Amino acid sequence: MKRICVVGTGYVGLVTGTCFADLGNQVICLDIDEQKVARLKRGELPIFEPGLEELVLRNVAAGRLHFTTSYAEAVPEADFCFIAVNTPAGPEGEADLTQVRTAAAALAPYLKDGAIVVNKSTVPIGTADRVDQIIERHLPPERRGLRFGVVSNPEFLREGNAVADFMHPDRVVLGATRREDAEQVAALYAPLKCPTLITDPRTAEMIKYASNAFLATKISFINEVASICERLGADVRLVAEGMGRDARIGRAFLDAGLGWGGSCFPKDVRALAHMAAVSGCHPQLLRAVIEINKDQRLKVIQKLRETLGSLEGQTIALLGLAFKPNTDDLREAPALEIAHLLQADGALLRAYDPVAMEGARRALPDAYFGTDPYDAVAGADATVVVTDWNEFKQLDLGRLRAAMARPVLIDGRNIYEPAAARAAGFLYYAIGRGTAEAVK
Ligand code: NAD
Repeated sequence: MKRICVVGTGYVGLVTGTCFADLGNQVICLDIDEQKVARLKRGELPIFEPGLEELVLRNVAAGRLHFTTSYAEAVPEADFCFIAVNTPAGPEGEADLTQVRTAAAALAPYLKDGAIVVNKSTVPIGTADRVDQIIERHLPPERRGLRFGVVSNPEFLREGNAVADFMHPDRVVLGATRREDAEQVAALYAPLKCPTLITDPRTAEMIKYASNAFLATKISFINEVASICERLGADVRLVAEGMGRDARIGRAFLDAGLGWGGSCFPKDVRALAHMAAVSGCHPQLLRAVIEINKDQRLKVIQKLRETLGSLEGQTIALLGLAFKPNTDDLREAPALEIAHLLQADGALLRAYDPVAMEGARRALPDAYFGTDPYDAVAGADATVVVTDWNEFKQLDLGRLRAAMARPVLIDGRNIYEPAAARAAGFLYYAIGRGTAEAVK
């Protein structure tokens, strides 16, 4: 059993802390957001993440998981202090390290001798060195000479599947200047019996950016192929199927749609491109990946204009608001971007999402939020499926059509069969599914 402090109790920090508690450690999760900590202390989860609530409650009840806003309470006993605060995009696309710097400085006065600071936030190459220096600088005079380690441990979990991803990682990456520091962190993960890769800190930090950029590239690639399919009469879903069967390519991240969003890909691809550019490289591929993604959102607007004419005064319904299914996260969600573009064109918005409506109400105060998908599309001139929640896949398309004023359905995630949608009376548009006749 080790004593662990996790700084930042968001999607990554709360999952990390809870899972380490479940592995038998004593964990204290620390956040400066008093409301968040108060809710957690009452047993309420501030985020939606499948399976997490039960795990939090179980470990709190077992006395292994605690919450606080106080560094003085959380840090002095901790063998490991994980930093899991956010690293949002700055104005030029660079990663804004303010939260990481503040957390490192706040840890310093309380670190115990021999403690290891483990950075889980996605941070620019070279940040581990900076964290080390910040801690050194903020040690009180009487604690100069304190022994501590800094390990880079990028996180690869996916929102919506975060608990399972933490418990069954494909790999754990640990970057450290002293191998024994990395080995101590590796021992925390030993119960997971997963491959562990120990590198220098810069390489570990780069592995995270390169992984996210590669996944975003796969999506932008298939979206470019989708545009070509649409023009030339091929079906991108079957193209992806055929490509994905090739073990060298793999099927994952080859779903054409409205493009990537969320709290990671947009900021991480931009941050890597920024790092490349300021270090004298010319990140042409990364720039294209970002541009293709922007175009995917605009295509929806173009398609609606082609079909409905001016969007001024037209009612458009959005099904799905979260950036992907099984999460309530709206950060850089394609739905919000599309909603703002539609509002700029004078359209009236209706919307529905199974879990993300609370946040969406704040982001889109003028929209009507339906009680269910059928209510959301009532009287709409067009419906756009933005997030591929499972519950949308089973909708009664005849009922959906009957609820709408006009029969325009843009399936931004390719979840319906074109023939079924057309049979229900829709003018149906998908992404990259050319007009070629289906095989009889
Ligand atoms: P988040 O915004 O959900 O959570 C960050 C938390 O840190 C917030 O609760 C905030 O109040 C708290 N915080 C900020 N400054 C603090 C401080 N000085 N002391 C204590 N708490 C502080 O962020 P997230 O989505 O969990 O992401 C965290 C990091 O992990 C980011 O760098 C992100 O890129 C990376 N990451 C995220 C995911 C993901 O799916 N969300 C996956 C892998 C990696």
